Amino acid sequence: MESSYCFIIMENLMIKRIQTLLKQKETNIKVTIRGWIRTRRDTGSFSFLEVNDGSCLVNLQVIADKTLVNYEDEISKLGAGCSVVVTGILRESPAKGQDVELHAELVEVVGWADPESYPLQKKRHSLEFLRSICHLRPRTNALGAVTRVRSRLSFAVHNFFQERDFAQIHTPIITTSDCEGAGEMFQVRASDEKKRNKEPFFGLQAGLTVSGQLQAEVYALALGQVYTFGPTFRAENSNTSRHLAEFWMIEPEMAFCDLDCNMELATDLLKFVLQDILDNCVDDLALFDKFIEKGLVKKLQDVVNKDFVHITYGEAVEKLSGLKEKFEYPVEWGIDLQSEHERYLSEELYKCPVIVSDYPASLKPFYMRLSDDEKTVAAMDILVPGIGEIVGGSQREERLDILTRRMNEAGIDLEEYDWYLDLRRYGTVPHAGFGLGFERLVQFATGMKNIREVIPFPRTPGFAPC
Ligand code: ATP
Ligand code: MN
Repeated sequence: MESSYCFIIMENLMIKRIQTLLKQKETNIKVTIRGWIRTRRDTGSFSFLEVNDGSCLVNLQVIADKTLVNYEDEISKLGAGCSVVVTGILRESPAKGQDVELHAELVEVVGWADPESYPLQKKRHSLEFLRSICHLRPRTNALGAVTRVRSRLSFAVHNFFQERDFAQIHTPIITTSDCEGAGEMFQVRASDEKKRNKEPFFGLQAGLTVSGQLQAEVYALALGQVYTFGPTFRAENSNTSRHLAEFWMIEPEMAFCDLDCNMELATDLLKFVLQDILDNCVDDLALFDKFIEKGLVKKLQDVVNKDFVHITYGEAVEKLSGLKEKFEYPVEWGIDLQSEHERYLSEELYKCPVIVSDYPASLKPFYMRLSDDEKTVAAMDILVPGIGEIVGGSQREERLDILTRRMNEAGIDLEEYDWYLDLRRYGTVPHAGFGLGFERLVQFATGMKNIREVIPFPRTPGFAPC
């Protein structure tokens, strides 16, 4: 028998938890929720307040009766953006499409939001406009959903590696090695260095890391399997929808591993984390599927369930050079594949993730392992529809003589990289790893066209708000 006198009292419940309770048909619970008003609608004897607390996409509908003591003075003036604490009883709703309502006993207004100036009124705002208010945009459905999916993906990445006995390494953010050609570096120096003509703070010219790979190699050759997941900085002046000046990168490194095992790890990682959000971010993904990229969920399911295509760079060039008129940059052996080529392969030709391996040595940095043909290196990129390159990796050169030869050819100071060469002098082993751009992954998972939508505070040339 249902009785309104018999409650379980649960204070301060996030709306996401309430959703799970409701799936178990638990109602008549007394709860306190805390969140922000999305809308208020008045009827004869009460008001409907849509409250969102950020824990999930759905709002909880609060019924605030006109008999509440602060109804006239406060509740009737609530609007979008106001913060409230509501205590009440969860009841199954008679209305269709609305599982449950919270019948308020107490509505405490914590903070007001002036409707004249609050930028997030009910209408839908463009993503470009929302970027100009980075400090308020997480309060919207779309950006809230991105934030939750991003968080879940991060958690899944750690789960994936920890389950496989990889140790997480915190590689340095300030570094004196520039990972040769990964990207332009930002310099780091003490504020009084230049003024007083002092020695560089770290003795050597220092900068913000462009990749944690070289340091991850150090630990892979001691702990076997490691990964780093940290911020990365590139002062590249590329104002594209896929580049940020500050982004996060996942970089595993494995000893006793060749290019094949590297490709397998990258494939498993992508499938694992996408399966995880398919299981755990159902509502948020449905929102993206509806408003951001039609067919998104099916696309992600296909990535999880189907094999990736693997072709060599040579094969890719063969496929692409037959289609000269299609591209701005014509394709021939030896050129770096441009975004248009990468996207053609994954979006139009194969319509799935494509692994391209064995790139010309001349295009790639010194540490990638030279193949027997002496023309290519054991490199691999993974290209995905809509984005292009999402993963870049390689087997590393483990042979001291070949490594030093390639460094000399590239004009690199061997002295500076003596520590790196020690890894080949003492107990060298074949090893491999890759970098997965975390924002590109979030972009792929949410269907967001612009990478600036998937990081809380994007940094691009001329733009670093908050
Ligand atoms: P691209 O050719 O797309 O500029 P890259 O080849 O310079 O990328 P890598 O040095 O291979 O990139 O870095 C590994 C991964 O890091 C890339 O596959 C990509 O997912 C990501 N990445 C690289 N540069 C950026 C950037 N500026 N912003 C966001 N992600 C990036
Ligand atoms: Mn790359």
